[in-house]
Parts: sequence; C-alpha cells; structure tokens
Amino acid sequence: MAAQIIDGKALALSVRAEIAREVEQFHEHSGIRPGLAAVLVGDDPASAIYVRNKKIACEKAGLYPEEYKLPSSTSQEDLYALIQKLNNDPKIHGILVQLPLPNHIESKIILEAVSPHKDADGFHPYNVGRLVEGDPVFTACTPKGVIHMIESTGQSMSGKRAVVIGRSNIVGKPVALLLMHRHATVTVCHSRTQDLPAVCREADIVVAAIGRAQFVTADMIKEGAIVIDVGINRREDGSLVGDVDFEPVKEKAGWITPVPGGVGPMTIAMLLQNTLESAKRSVTPS
Ligand code: NAD
Repeated sequence: MAAQIIDGKALALSVRAEIAREVEQFHEHSGIRPGLAAVLVGDDPASAIYVRNKKIACEKAGLYPEEYKLPSSTSQEDLYALIQKLNNDPKIHGILVQLPLPNHIESKIILEAVSPHKDADGFHPYNVGRLVEGDPVFTACTPKGVIHMIESTGQSMSGKRAVVIGRSNIVGKPVALLLMHRHATVTVCHSRTQDLPAVCREADIVVAAIGRAQFVTADMIKEGAIVIDVGINRREDGSLVGDVDFEPVKEKAGWITPVPGGVGPMTIAMLLQNTLESAKRSVTPS
C-alpha cells in the first residue's frame, strides 16, 4: 500500500493558525507582540525570498516583524553593532541572521553575537549545549519541524530505530539529538558511512538531510518506514526535488514527506513558534 503523505503545507498552516491564536491571547494579557528581526546582508535572490516569506508569515500570525536589508559591502563591525542593538531592543524577541553571509564576514562571530535569549534559529552554542543536555530553550527550526512531522503520524519514536543521513550542525546533528531524547535508537550516517543502504534498511524512521537529488532509493527503505525528506535540490529545468526518490519510495514507506510542500513550510512555522515562546519567556523568565 502506498505511503501516507505528510502534508507539510497543511500541517504548517494549522500550526500557524494556532500560533496566531496564542499571539492574540498573549498580546491581550501582556500588551506585547512577539517581535522577530530578520537581517539580510547582500543580494542573494534565494535568501531575499526566504526573508520575505518569513516576514509575510510573521505578519499573518500577528507577530511584529522588522527587516534589515544591508548591502553586501556591510562591514563585520557594522553588522555586529546592529545585532547588539537588536539584542537590547525590548520589541524584539527573536533575531534571525539569514545565511550565507558574504565571505568577508565570519558567520560564527555574528551568530555568537546574537543573544542566546533571542536566538530564534537555535544556532548559538549556548542553545546547542542546552539541546545536547536534553533541556533545549531554542531548538533549530528545521529539526524542530522534522520532529513535529514525525509526531503527526501518531507513531511513537520510543525504541524505534532511526537513521539520520547527514551530520550538519543545522540539520543532521540536532535532528539526531531530538530523536535520541525521544528514546529512538539513532544512527547518524554521512559521506564516509559504509554500506549506507544496509544501515537505512534497518530504520523505522529515516531522515534525509544530504543535499543530493533523489539519493535515497526504494531499496534502502524498510516496508512501512517513516521517511522525512529535508533536502532541497534544484534540477536543471528549475524544478525542486528532495533527497528521496519520492515516487518509488512512496510505494514502500508507511509515511513520507514531499518536496516541495514538506519540511520547508514547517521550518517557517517553527520560527514563528520559537519567537512566540521567546516573548512568553521574556515576561516569565526561568
Ligand atoms: P550540509 O551540506 O551541511 O550537510 C550534508 C550532509 O550530508 C553532510 O553531513 C554529509 O556528510 C552528508 N553527505 C553528503 N554526501 C553524502 C553521501 N554520499 N552519503 C551520505 N551522506 C552524505 O547540508 P545541510 O545544511 O544539512 O542541508 C542538507 C539538505 O537539506 C540540503 O539540500 C539543504 O538545502 C536542505 N535544507 C532544507 C531545509 C528546509 O527548511 N527544508 C533547511 C536546511 C537545509
């Protein structure tokens, strides 16, 4: 039987509707509107689209958005100063620095300049450490969205075998930690893994975060597995495909996410959720 499709667009819409309700309730009793500042340096068209979509999503959910579009010639010092200003701005509860930054700016220095209490993307080492401890404050948006999608199947992660393909700091590693904290038995695969298909075939849950078009094929998937495709790959004809060979894998998996319309929309929804949670914490600090 063909897999059930985990519709990221529909799931994200329902999460965003719930966030919009909570934002209004929070605003009613605190007078505060959760604020998200997005900082874009340079004129990368894809980054500009991401930032615009995040701003629109913020407005629709009733959050207060600020957008900073800086020229690619912006110095590291000026960008650092802007981050400091946002760290101290009480209207802002989440700061997002769109990556990649121009080559002359050290991303690590800028990401660490963001206050860990406003780190909506969850990239600051403090938040990474909290995640490792199993006591996260801000969790990176894409990994958080992945877990939400697995939860939407109604299947428990406890005791299941999970394989994460990819070990990046922004996707693979945090996804593996989140799965481990939900009591899955997790294997992280990467470019040096030997006999990757055999490892994948053991998995009840497969998360693909590789960046290689249609890399995960049906022979790598156990019957009935949950398959989450994080990859976004642009083909020569301009269309988007994931890291999973969707059509054949769909015939074998139990649940599968499409690309586009899968993990991508959930990432934005989780960014809004992180900003709302941050605004709530700002009035009731732990
Ligand atoms: P990355 O390049 O930082 O990491 C890729 C990982 O894949 C590496 O750990 C590498 O070891 C592994 N890998 C590469 N070739 C492999 C192979 N042949 N076999 C096994 N493992 C291999 O990428 P990333 O930032 O983690 O992103 C991964 C994909 O997810 C990309 O397509 C990216 O565009 C997409 N992405 C999507 C979202 C979203 O919101 N949907 C967010 C972030 C990233």
